[in-house]
Amino acid sequence: MKRRVLWACPAICVSLGGIGACSHGSRDIASPPATPVRRAADPAASMDSYYLSTCAVCGGMLGTKGESPELIQEGRRLRVCCDACAQAFNRAPAANIERIDAVMILDQRPHYPLKVSLVSGDPLGPNPEDFIWGNRLFRASGWAERDLILDDPVRYVRLLDQAVIAAQSPTYGMPDKCPVQGDILPTDEPFDIVVANRMIRVCCGRCARVVQARPYQYLGMVDYANRHPRSRVQP
Ligand SMILES: [Zn+2]
Ligand SMILES: [Zn+2]
Repeated sequence: MKRRVLWACPAICVSLGGIGACSHGSRDIASPPATPVRRAADPAASMDSYYLSTCAVCGGMLGTKGESPELIQEGRRLRVCCDACAQAFNRAPAANIERIDAVMILDQRPHYPLKVSLVSGDPLGPNPEDFIWGNRLFRASGWAERDLILDDPVRYVRLLDQAVIAAQSPTYGMPDKCPVQGDILPTDEPFDIVVANRMIRVCCGRCARVVQARPYQYLGMVDYANRHPRSRVQP
């Protein structure tokens, strides 16, 4: 019997609430093909959960003041570090959203997978119209294209997911590891999901839902693996 090997990381400890809950062992073959997760038809259900590790109001680290309250603004999910920041958000929601949008645009721009328009396929040009829908960066060639995307965001977020997976899977930093459970086994049916224009491979639908609910607990691990490709597990 194979010795059980878990990937040592804080998120695994947090998410499993007891490492013994993991059913995954070591593996020694190439990573299996993964299936992209289908998104819901409902716009609110197609939005990414809050993914930054910092408070949407004060910028402090989430979790340092206990449970991080979630704020839902027109279906969009944000998190703050404490009740005082939740109250500050509600006093000026538009200004707070404008500021957090600017943070997300800067953060996601390097991960945006396309140099062409999602709508027309034409080059985006030197100054695309950047905007956030559902915590996701979109780039349009102008206001008219932006409005087209916002008229049917579920369709365009699906197209963007496909573009992210196509662009990032060849160099994805942890193709054999699920950020929730550890090793992806040959018997698993992994999924590729997209959060904040980053691809994340998980070992099963349950782990997909775990990451989609609290991506800020897992995204740092994926970003780290992508920045350190030498740490990739070789078959
Ligand atoms: Zn705060
Ligand atoms: Zn899993």
